[in-house]
Amino acid sequence: MFGKKLYMLLIAGVIMVMAIPSVISAASLKDIPKNYAEEINYLTDRDIVKGFPGGYFKPDEPVTREQAATMVGRALGLDGEKPRKTVFSDVDASSYASGYIQLAYEEDVIHGYGDGTFGPLNEMTRLEMAYLISKAFDYTDDSTSISYSDMPNKKEHVQAINRVTNAGITNGYVDGKFKPDSTITRLEFSIMVARALEPSFKVDGNVSDNEEDKETPPEPEEEEKPEPKPEPKPEPTPEEEAANVDPKTQYVTAYALNVRSGPGVEHGKVGLLYKNDKVTTYQVEDNNWVYIKYDGGKGFVNQKYLTTTKPSIKRKIAIDPGHGGHDPGASGNGLVEKDINLAVSLHLRDYLEDAGIDVVMTRTNDTYLGLDERVDVGVNNDADTFVSIHTNSFSSSSANGSETYYSTASTRTAESKQLATFIQDRMINALGTRDRGVKSAGFRVIKANPLPAALVELGFITNPDDANVLETKQKEAAKAIALGIEDYYEWKEGR
Ligand SMILES: [Zn+2]
Repeated sequence: MFGKKLYMLLIAGVIMVMAIPSVISAASLKDIPKNYAEEINYLTDRDIVKGFPGGYFKPDEPVTREQAATMVGRALGLDGEKPRKTVFSDVDASSYASGYIQLAYEEDVIHGYGDGTFGPLNEMTRLEMAYLISKAFDYTDDSTSISYSDMPNKKEHVQAINRVTNAGITNGYVDGKFKPDSTITRLEFSIMVARALEPSFKVDGNVSDNEEDKETPPEPEEEEKPEPKPEPKPEPTPEEEAANVDPKTQYVTAYALNVRSGPGVEHGKVGLLYKNDKVTTYQVEDNNWVYIKYDGGKGFVNQKYLTTTKPSIKRKIAIDPGHGGHDPGASGNGLVEKDINLAVSLHLRDYLEDAGIDVVMTRTNDTYLGLDERVDVGVNNDADTFVSIHTNSFSSSSANGSETYYSTASTRTAESKQLATFIQDRMINALGTRDRGVKSAGFRVIKANPLPAALVELGFITNPDDANVLETKQKEAAKAIALGIEDYYEWKEGR
Protein backbone atom coordinates (compact mmCIF):
# COMPACT_ATOMS: atom_id res chain seq x y z
CA MET A 1 0.00 0.00 0.00
CA PHE A 2 1.41 3.35 -1.00
CA GLY A 3 -1.85 5.17 -0.75
CA LYS A 4 -2.19 6.68 2.68
CA LYS A 5 1.19 8.38 2.92
CA LEU A 6 0.97 9.67 -0.61
CA TYR A 7 -2.46 11.00 0.06
CA MET A 8 -1.22 12.95 3.07
CA LEU A 9 1.60 14.37 0.97
CA LEU A 10 -0.81 15.36 -1.75
CA ILE A 11 -3.04 17.15 0.71
CA ALA A 12 -0.03 18.91 2.24
CA GLY A 13 1.10 19.87 -1.27
CA VAL A 14 -2.26 21.32 -2.23
CA ILE A 15 -2.40 23.44 0.91
CA MET A 16 1.11 24.74 0.29
CA VAL A 17 0.35 25.68 -3.29
CA MET A 18 -2.83 27.47 -2.36
CA ALA A 19 -1.07 29.35 0.42
CA ILE A 20 1.50 30.91 -1.90
CA PRO A 21 -0.15 33.63 -3.93
CA SER A 22 2.88 34.15 -6.16
CA VAL A 23 2.52 30.73 -7.80
CA ILE A 24 1.73 31.31 -11.44
CA SER A 25 0.02 28.77 -13.61
CA ALA A 26 1.83 27.50 -16.66
CA ALA A 27 -0.39 29.11 -19.22
CA SER A 28 0.11 32.60 -17.87
CA LEU A 29 3.90 32.88 -18.02
CA LYS A 30 4.42 35.67 -20.49
CA ASP A 31 8.05 35.52 -21.49
CA ILE A 32 8.77 31.90 -22.38
CA PRO A 33 10.75 31.75 -25.64
CA LYS A 34 8.69 29.97 -28.27
CA ASN A 35 11.49 27.57 -29.21
CA TYR A 36 11.52 26.14 -25.71
CA ALA A 37 7.87 26.45 -24.73
CA GLU A 38 7.51 22.67 -24.72
CA GLU A 39 10.35 22.17 -22.26
CA ILE A 40 9.32 25.02 -19.94
CA ASN A 41 5.64 24.07 -20.00
CA TYR A 42 6.63 20.52 -19.17
CA LEU A 43 8.26 21.87 -16.01
CA THR A 44 5.53 24.34 -15.07
CA ASP A 45 2.88 21.63 -15.55
CA ARG A 46 4.72 19.62 -12.92
CA ASP A 47 5.26 22.59 -10.58
CA ILE A 48 9.01 22.20 -10.97
CA VAL A 49 9.27 25.75 -12.33
CA LYS A 50 7.08 28.50 -10.98
CA GLY A 51 7.01 31.98 -12.41
CA PHE A 52 7.74 35.25 -10.71
CA PRO A 53 4.86 37.45 -9.54
CA GLY A 54 3.37 39.18 -12.55
CA GLY A 55 3.61 36.02 -14.62
CA TYR A 56 7.25 36.22 -15.72
CA PHE A 57 9.75 33.43 -16.20
CA LYS A 58 12.76 35.76 -16.70
CA PRO A 59 14.56 33.36 -19.02
CA ASP A 60 17.74 35.37 -19.41
CA GLU A 61 18.42 35.97 -15.73
CA PRO A 62 21.20 33.89 -14.24
CA VAL A 63 19.97 30.99 -12.12
CA THR A 64 21.06 31.26 -8.50
CA ARG A 65 22.33 28.26 -6.59
CA GLU A 66 19.22 28.23 -4.40
CA GLN A 67 16.92 28.39 -7.44
CA ALA A 68 18.84 25.52 -9.05
CA ALA A 69 18.65 23.41 -5.87
CA THR A 70 14.90 24.05 -5.62
CA MET A 71 14.24 23.12 -9.23
CA VAL A 72 16.29 19.92 -8.99
CA GLY A 73 14.71 19.07 -5.63
CA ARG A 74 11.25 19.35 -7.14
CA ALA A 75 12.34 17.38 -10.20
CA LEU A 76 13.50 14.59 -7.89
CA GLY A 77 10.20 14.66 -6.03
CA LEU A 78 11.81 15.70 -2.73
CA ASP A 79 9.36 16.98 -0.13
CA GLY A 80 11.07 20.32 0.40
CA GLU A 81 8.42 23.02 0.07
CA LYS A 82 8.52 23.55 3.83
CA PRO A 83 11.47 25.73 4.97
CA ARG A 84 13.78 24.23 7.58
CA LYS A 85 17.15 24.53 9.27
CA THR A 86 20.03 23.38 7.07
CA VAL A 87 23.61 22.28 7.65
CA PHE A 88 24.87 25.39 5.84
CA SER A 89 25.65 28.50 7.90
CA ASP A 90 24.56 30.90 5.15
CA VAL A 91 21.17 29.43 4.31
CA ASP A 92 18.36 31.15 6.21
CA ALA A 93 16.12 28.52 7.82
CA SER A 94 13.07 30.52 6.73
CA SER A 95 14.10 30.90 3.09
CA TYR A 96 11.87 29.23 0.48
CA ALA A 97 14.75 27.11 -0.79
CA SER A 98 15.99 25.84 2.59
CA GLY A 99 13.86 22.67 2.53
CA TYR A 100 15.18 21.60 -0.85
CA ILE A 101 18.75 22.58 -0.02
CA GLN A 102 18.74 20.47 3.15
CA LEU A 103 17.03 17.49 1.50
CA ALA A 104 19.32 17.63 -1.53
CA TYR A 105 22.26 17.67 0.91
CA GLU A 106 20.84 14.63 2.72
CA GLU A 107 20.40 12.89 -0.65
CA ASP A 108 24.09 13.51 -1.38
CA VAL A 109 23.18 15.68 -4.36
CA ILE A 110 24.75 18.95 -3.11
CA HIS A 111 27.73 19.56 -0.85
CA GLY A 112 28.21 23.32 -0.70
CA TYR A 113 31.63 24.91 -0.84
CA GLY A 114 33.27 22.63 1.72
CA ASP A 115 33.58 25.37 4.35
CA GLY A 116 30.07 24.94 5.69
CA THR A 117 28.53 27.48 3.31
CA PHE A 118 26.33 26.98 0.26
CA GLY A 119 26.26 30.42 -1.39
CA PRO A 120 22.51 30.35 -2.05
CA LEU A 121 22.43 33.67 -3.87
CA ASN A 122 25.55 33.09 -5.95
CA GLU A 123 24.99 32.58 -9.65
CA MET A 124 25.49 29.01 -10.81
CA THR A 125 28.23 28.28 -13.32
CA ARG A 126 27.96 25.71 -16.10
CA LEU A 127 30.58 23.55 -14.37
CA GLU A 128 28.55 23.63 -11.13
CA MET A 129 25.50 22.68 -13.19
CA ALA A 130 27.41 19.65 -14.55
CA TYR A 131 28.14 18.50 -10.99
CA LEU A 132 24.61 19.15 -9.74
CA ILE A 133 22.73 17.50 -12.62
CA SER A 134 25.02 14.48 -12.88
CA LYS A 135 24.75 13.91 -9.11
CA ALA A 136 21.00 14.48 -9.00
CA PHE A 137 20.16 12.12 -11.85
CA ASP A 138 22.93 9.63 -11.18
CA TYR A 139 24.77 10.02 -14.45
CA THR A 140 27.97 8.02 -14.27
CA ASP A 141 29.16 7.54 -17.86
CA ASP A 142 32.22 9.80 -17.91
CA SER A 143 33.78 8.52 -21.12
CA THR A 144 34.73 11.21 -23.60
CA SER A 145 32.25 11.58 -26.45
CA ILE A 146 32.69 15.26 -27.26
CA SER A 147 36.03 16.90 -26.58
CA TYR A 148 35.23 20.55 -25.93
CA SER A 149 38.01 22.95 -26.85
CA ASP A 150 37.97 24.57 -23.40
CA MET A 151 37.91 21.54 -21.09
CA PRO A 152 39.20 22.29 -17.57
CA ASN A 153 42.42 20.60 -16.41
CA LYS A 154 41.05 18.95 -13.30
CA LYS A 155 40.03 15.35 -13.90
CA GLU A 156 36.89 15.58 -11.72
CA HIS A 157 35.68 18.62 -13.64
CA VAL A 158 36.15 16.82 -16.96
CA GLN A 159 34.25 13.80 -15.63
CA ALA A 160 31.29 15.93 -14.54
CA ILE A 161 31.12 17.59 -17.96
CA ASN A 162 31.36 14.23 -19.75
CA ARG A 163 28.56 12.84 -17.59
CA VAL A 164 26.02 15.49 -18.55
CA THR A 165 27.15 15.34 -22.17
CA ASN A 166 26.78 11.56 -22.43
CA ALA A 167 23.36 11.77 -20.81
CA GLY A 168 22.12 14.08 -23.57
CA ILE A 169 21.70 17.05 -21.21
CA THR A 170 23.96 19.40 -23.17
CA ASN A 171 26.47 19.28 -25.98
CA GLY A 172 28.06 22.64 -25.45
CA TYR A 173 27.99 25.57 -27.77
CA VAL A 174 28.04 25.65 -31.53
CA ASP A 175 31.65 26.83 -31.45
CA GLY A 176 32.73 23.60 -29.73
CA LYS A 177 33.16 25.18 -26.31
CA PHE A 178 31.59 24.18 -23.00
CA LYS A 179 32.30 27.48 -21.17
CA PRO A 180 32.56 25.89 -17.73
CA ASP A 181 32.99 29.18 -15.89
CA SER A 182 30.10 31.03 -17.55
CA THR A 183 26.99 31.55 -15.50
CA ILE A 184 23.94 29.63 -16.65
CA THR A 185 20.60 31.32 -17.29
CA ARG A 186 17.23 30.27 -15.93
CA LEU A 187 16.25 29.19 -19.44
CA GLU A 188 19.37 27.09 -20.03
CA PHE A 189 19.16 25.42 -16.65
CA SER A 190 15.44 24.70 -17.02
CA ILE A 191 15.95 23.11 -20.43
CA MET A 192 18.59 20.82 -18.94
CA VAL A 193 16.30 19.74 -16.10
CA ALA A 194 13.56 19.07 -18.67
CA ARG A 195 16.00 16.98 -20.70
CA ALA A 196 16.91 15.01 -17.57
CA LEU A 197 13.24 14.18 -17.00
CA GLU A 198 11.97 13.65 -20.53
CA PRO A 199 14.10 11.78 -23.09
CA SER A 200 12.44 13.35 -26.12
CA PHE A 201 13.98 16.68 -25.11
CA LYS A 202 17.51 15.29 -25.01
CA VAL A 203 20.17 16.33 -27.46
CA ASP A 204 21.87 13.64 -29.49
CA GLY A 205 25.54 13.38 -30.22
CA ASN A 206 25.42 15.77 -33.16
CA VAL A 207 27.90 18.40 -32.10
CA SER A 208 26.32 21.31 -33.88
CA ASP A 209 22.80 20.52 -32.70
CA ASN A 210 22.69 23.19 -30.09
CA GLU A 211 20.67 26.26 -29.58
CA GLU A 212 21.33 26.91 -25.92
CA ASP A 213 23.05 30.17 -26.52
CA LYS A 214 21.43 32.19 -29.19
CA GLU A 215 23.83 35.04 -28.44
CA THR A 216 26.73 33.00 -29.79
CA PRO A 217 26.83 33.16 -33.55
CA PRO A 218 27.46 29.81 -35.21
CA GLU A 219 31.01 29.28 -36.40
CA PRO A 220 30.50 26.98 -39.35
CA GLU A 221 34.20 26.29 -39.87
CA GLU A 222 34.21 24.42 -36.54
CA GLU A 223 31.25 22.24 -37.37
CA GLU A 224 31.68 18.64 -38.19
CA LYS A 225 30.96 18.54 -41.87
CA PRO A 226 34.22 19.44 -43.58
CA GLU A 227 32.93 19.57 -47.14
CA PRO A 228 30.46 22.08 -48.44
CA LYS A 229 27.08 20.51 -49.09
CA PRO A 230 26.69 19.33 -52.68
CA GLU A 231 23.97 20.93 -54.73
CA PRO A 232 20.76 18.98 -54.17
CA LYS A 233 20.40 16.64 -57.11
CA PRO A 234 17.12 17.06 -58.92
CA GLU A 235 15.09 14.39 -57.04
CA PRO A 236 14.70 11.11 -56.86
CA THR A 237 12.93 11.21 -53.51
CA PRO A 238 14.48 9.16 -50.72
CA GLU A 239 11.73 6.60 -51.31
CA GLU A 240 12.71 6.17 -54.95
CA GLU A 241 16.36 6.03 -54.10
CA ALA A 242 15.68 3.48 -51.41
CA ALA A 243 14.13 1.22 -54.01
CA ASN A 244 17.47 1.06 -55.84
CA VAL A 245 19.64 0.33 -52.84
CA ASP A 246 20.11 -2.88 -50.89
CA PRO A 247 18.74 -2.19 -47.44
CA LYS A 248 20.98 -2.95 -44.46
CA THR A 249 19.97 -3.71 -40.89
CA GLN A 250 21.77 -1.54 -38.35
CA TYR A 251 21.53 -0.66 -34.66
CA VAL A 252 21.68 2.65 -32.81
CA THR A 253 24.79 3.23 -30.68
CA ALA A 254 23.88 6.65 -29.20
CA TYR A 255 21.91 6.87 -25.97
CA ALA A 256 19.24 8.85 -27.81
CA LEU A 257 19.31 9.78 -31.47
CA ASN A 258 17.15 12.32 -33.25
CA VAL A 259 15.66 11.30 -36.60
CA ARG A 260 15.46 14.30 -38.93
CA SER A 261 13.49 15.16 -42.03
CA GLY A 262 16.61 15.75 -44.10
CA PRO A 263 20.32 14.84 -44.14
CA GLY A 264 21.70 17.34 -41.57
CA VAL A 265 21.08 18.87 -38.16
CA GLU A 266 19.45 21.91 -39.75
CA HIS A 267 16.44 19.73 -40.60
CA GLY A 268 13.58 19.30 -38.15
CA LYS A 269 13.22 16.36 -35.78
CA VAL A 270 10.71 13.76 -36.91
CA GLY A 271 11.48 10.99 -34.44
CA LEU A 272 13.65 9.69 -31.66
CA LEU A 273 15.54 6.41 -31.42
CA TYR A 274 17.24 4.82 -28.41
CA LYS A 275 20.38 2.79 -28.01
CA ASN A 276 20.15 -0.66 -29.65
CA ASP A 277 17.03 0.23 -31.64
CA LYS A 278 16.95 -1.58 -34.98
CA VAL A 279 16.74 0.42 -38.22
CA THR A 280 16.90 -0.36 -41.94
CA THR A 281 19.35 1.91 -43.76
CA TYR A 282 19.31 2.87 -47.42
CA GLN A 283 21.15 5.59 -49.28
CA VAL A 284 24.13 7.21 -47.55
CA GLU A 285 24.44 10.89 -48.41
CA ASP A 286 27.81 12.50 -49.19
CA ASN A 287 27.89 14.01 -45.70
CA ASN A 288 27.47 10.64 -43.98
CA TRP A 289 23.80 11.07 -43.24
CA VAL A 290 21.72 8.07 -44.11
CA TYR A 291 18.08 7.53 -44.99
CA ILE A 292 16.46 5.04 -42.60
CA LYS A 293 13.19 3.32 -41.92
CA TYR A 294 12.24 1.88 -38.55
CA ASP A 295 9.20 0.67 -36.71
CA GLY A 296 7.11 3.79 -36.50
CA GLY A 297 8.87 6.10 -38.90
CA LYS A 298 11.48 7.11 -41.44
CA GLY A 299 13.96 9.91 -41.87
CA PHE A 300 17.65 10.69 -41.69
CA VAL A 301 20.29 10.09 -39.02
CA ASN A 302 24.04 10.54 -38.92
CA GLN A 303 25.63 7.24 -39.88
CA LYS A 304 28.28 7.44 -37.20
CA TYR A 305 25.67 6.57 -34.54
CA LEU A 306 24.82 3.28 -36.23
CA THR A 307 26.53 -0.09 -36.22
CA THR A 308 25.93 -3.29 -38.18
CA THR A 309 26.88 -5.38 -35.13
CA LYS A 310 23.81 -6.76 -33.45
CA PRO A 311 23.96 -5.73 -29.80
CA SER A 312 24.01 -8.60 -27.35
CA ILE A 313 21.11 -7.81 -25.10
CA LYS A 314 21.20 -9.43 -21.72
CA ARG A 315 18.02 -9.22 -19.77
CA LYS A 316 18.46 -8.24 -16.14
CA ILE A 317 15.60 -7.05 -13.99
CA ALA A 318 15.35 -5.73 -10.43
CA ILE A 319 12.40 -7.14 -8.46
CA ASP A 320 11.37 -5.11 -5.42
CA PRO A 321 9.09 -6.73 -2.83
CA GLY A 322 7.52 -3.64 -1.21
CA HIS A 323 7.92 -2.84 2.51
CA GLY A 324 9.67 -5.22 4.95
CA GLY A 325 11.16 -5.23 8.45
CA HIS A 326 9.62 -2.56 10.68
CA ASP A 327 7.45 -1.42 7.75
CA PRO A 328 4.72 -4.06 7.33
CA GLY A 329 2.68 -2.13 4.72
CA ALA A 330 -1.04 -2.79 4.73
CA SER A 331 -2.86 -5.61 6.49
CA GLY A 332 -6.28 -7.22 6.46
CA ASN A 333 -8.05 -10.56 6.52
CA GLY A 334 -5.23 -12.04 8.56
CA LEU A 335 -2.62 -11.13 5.94
CA VAL A 336 0.30 -8.68 6.07
CA GLU A 337 1.40 -6.91 2.89
CA LYS A 338 5.17 -7.29 3.32
CA ASP A 339 4.80 -11.09 3.50
CA ILE A 340 2.58 -11.34 0.42
CA ASN A 341 4.88 -9.06 -1.57
CA LEU A 342 7.93 -11.14 -0.67
CA ALA A 343 6.30 -14.52 -1.34
CA VAL A 344 5.07 -13.46 -4.79
CA SER A 345 8.41 -11.80 -5.60
CA LEU A 346 10.40 -14.96 -4.73
CA HIS A 347 8.19 -17.04 -7.02
CA LEU A 348 8.54 -14.32 -9.66
CA ARG A 349 12.32 -14.52 -9.40
CA ASP A 350 12.22 -18.27 -9.98
CA TYR A 351 9.96 -17.99 -13.02
CA LEU A 352 12.10 -15.23 -14.53
CA GLU A 353 15.32 -17.18 -14.00
CA ASP A 354 13.71 -20.21 -15.62
CA ALA A 355 13.06 -17.98 -18.63
CA GLY A 356 16.75 -17.01 -18.79
CA ILE A 357 16.34 -13.56 -17.26
CA ASP A 358 18.85 -12.39 -14.64
CA VAL A 359 17.16 -11.16 -11.47
CA VAL A 360 18.38 -8.77 -8.78
CA MET A 361 16.24 -8.74 -5.62
CA THR A 362 16.05 -5.63 -3.42
CA ARG A 363 15.30 -7.97 -0.50
CA THR A 364 14.95 -11.73 -0.10
CA ASN A 365 13.89 -11.75 3.54
CA ASP A 366 12.00 -9.63 6.06
CA THR A 367 14.29 -6.59 6.09
CA TYR A 368 13.67 -2.89 5.66
CA LEU A 369 15.11 -0.76 2.83
CA GLY A 370 14.47 2.91 2.04
CA LEU A 371 12.82 3.75 -1.27
CA ASP A 372 15.98 5.21 -2.81
CA GLU A 373 18.02 2.24 -1.63
CA ARG A 374 15.65 0.01 -3.60
CA VAL A 375 16.21 2.06 -6.75
CA ASP A 376 19.97 1.96 -6.12
CA VAL A 377 20.02 -1.85 -5.87
CA GLY A 378 18.70 -2.05 -9.43
CA VAL A 379 20.97 0.64 -10.85
CA ASN A 380 24.13 -0.48 -9.06
CA ASN A 381 23.65 -4.06 -10.24
CA ASP A 382 23.20 -3.04 -13.88
CA ALA A 383 19.56 -4.04 -14.05
CA ASP A 384 17.79 -2.75 -17.18
CA THR A 385 14.25 -2.77 -15.75
CA PHE A 386 12.59 -2.40 -12.32
CA VAL A 387 9.35 -3.89 -11.00
CA SER A 388 8.00 -3.27 -7.49
CA ILE A 389 5.39 -5.62 -6.01
CA HIS A 390 2.71 -4.30 -3.63
CA THR A 391 -0.65 -5.12 -2.15
CA ASN A 392 -3.41 -2.52 -2.00
CA SER A 393 -5.71 -1.53 0.85
CA PHE A 394 -8.62 0.76 1.53
CA SER A 395 -10.72 1.89 4.48
CA SER A 396 -13.75 0.11 3.04
CA SER A 397 -13.56 -3.64 2.39
CA SER A 398 -15.53 -3.29 -0.86
CA ALA A 399 -12.61 -1.81 -2.85
CA ASN A 400 -11.10 -4.56 -4.96
CA GLY A 401 -9.08 -5.33 -8.07
CA SER A 402 -5.56 -5.23 -9.49
CA GLU A 403 -3.72 -2.27 -10.96
CA THR A 404 -0.26 -1.46 -12.29
CA TYR A 405 1.48 1.91 -12.15
CA TYR A 406 4.10 3.76 -14.15
CA SER A 407 5.29 7.35 -13.67
CA THR A 408 4.86 10.13 -16.19
CA ALA A 409 7.66 11.97 -14.39
CA SER A 410 10.12 9.14 -15.03
CA THR A 411 12.81 9.56 -17.66
CA ARG A 412 11.53 6.35 -19.29
CA THR A 413 7.80 6.99 -19.37
CA ALA A 414 6.98 5.33 -22.69
CA GLU A 415 8.81 2.08 -21.89
CA SER A 416 7.48 2.08 -18.32
CA LYS A 417 3.90 2.42 -19.52
CA GLN A 418 4.42 -0.47 -21.93
CA LEU A 419 5.91 -2.59 -19.14
CA ALA A 420 2.98 -1.80 -16.85
CA THR A 421 0.49 -2.63 -19.60
CA PHE A 422 1.99 -6.05 -20.40
CA ILE A 423 2.06 -6.97 -16.70
CA GLN A 424 -1.48 -5.75 -16.06
CA ASP A 425 -2.90 -7.70 -19.02
CA ARG A 426 -1.29 -10.96 -17.96
CA MET A 427 -2.22 -10.46 -14.31
CA ILE A 428 -5.91 -9.83 -14.95
CA ASN A 429 -6.03 -12.84 -17.22
CA ALA A 430 -4.47 -15.14 -14.66
CA LEU A 431 -6.08 -13.94 -11.44
CA GLY A 432 -9.56 -12.99 -12.58
CA THR A 433 -9.47 -9.96 -10.31
CA ARG A 434 -11.20 -6.74 -11.29
CA ASP A 435 -9.21 -4.79 -13.89
CA ARG A 436 -8.53 -1.38 -12.34
CA GLY A 437 -6.22 -0.59 -15.24
CA VAL A 438 -2.80 0.88 -15.90
CA LYS A 439 -2.33 4.18 -14.10
CA SER A 440 0.32 6.80 -13.59
CA ALA A 441 1.47 8.00 -10.18
CA GLY A 442 4.60 9.51 -8.69
CA PHE A 443 5.59 6.67 -6.36
CA ARG A 444 9.23 7.29 -5.62
CA VAL A 445 10.58 3.87 -6.65
CA ILE A 446 9.17 4.31 -10.15
CA LYS A 447 9.39 8.10 -10.47
CA ALA A 448 12.97 8.64 -9.30
CA ASN A 449 14.15 5.59 -11.21
CA PRO A 450 16.43 5.88 -14.25
CA LEU A 451 15.22 2.46 -15.43
CA PRO A 452 11.90 1.65 -17.08
CA ALA A 453 9.85 0.86 -13.98
CA ALA A 454 6.41 -0.39 -12.93
CA LEU A 455 4.68 -0.87 -9.59
CA VAL A 456 2.16 -3.70 -9.29
CA GLU A 457 -0.74 -3.59 -6.81
CA LEU A 458 -1.72 -7.26 -6.82
CA GLY A 459 -5.09 -6.79 -5.13
CA PHE A 460 -6.76 -5.38 -2.02
CA ILE A 461 -5.69 -7.06 1.19
CA THR A 462 -8.72 -5.42 2.82
CA ASN A 463 -11.19 -7.14 0.46
CA PRO A 464 -12.11 -10.74 1.39
CA ASP A 465 -12.18 -12.05 -2.22
CA ASP A 466 -8.93 -10.35 -3.19
CA ALA A 467 -7.32 -11.47 0.06
CA ASN A 468 -8.24 -15.03 -0.82
CA VAL A 469 -6.49 -14.63 -4.18
CA LEU A 470 -3.47 -13.06 -2.46
CA GLU A 471 -3.22 -16.02 -0.14
CA THR A 472 -3.93 -18.88 -2.55
CA LYS A 473 -2.76 -17.69 -5.98
CA GLN A 474 0.75 -16.41 -5.27
CA LYS A 475 2.38 -18.64 -7.88
CA GLU A 476 -0.24 -17.75 -10.47
CA ALA A 477 0.34 -14.05 -9.81
CA ALA A 478 4.10 -14.50 -10.08
CA LYS A 479 3.83 -16.50 -13.30
CA ALA A 480 1.56 -13.87 -14.86
CA ILE A 481 3.89 -11.02 -13.96
CA ALA A 482 6.85 -13.02 -15.32
CA LEU A 483 5.01 -13.50 -18.63
CA GLY A 484 4.21 -9.78 -18.76
CA ILE A 485 7.89 -9.00 -18.24
CA GLU A 486 8.82 -11.40 -21.05
CA ASP A 487 6.25 -9.71 -23.30
CA TYR A 488 7.92 -6.43 -22.50
CA TYR A 489 11.43 -7.65 -23.34
CA GLU A 490 10.22 -9.09 -26.63
CA TRP A 491 8.51 -5.84 -27.49
CA LYS A 492 11.56 -3.81 -26.53
CA GLU A 493 14.08 -5.95 -28.40
CA GLY A 494 11.90 -6.24 -31.46
CA ARG A 495 11.44 -2.52 -31.82
ZN1 LIG B 1 2.62 -1.16 -0.51
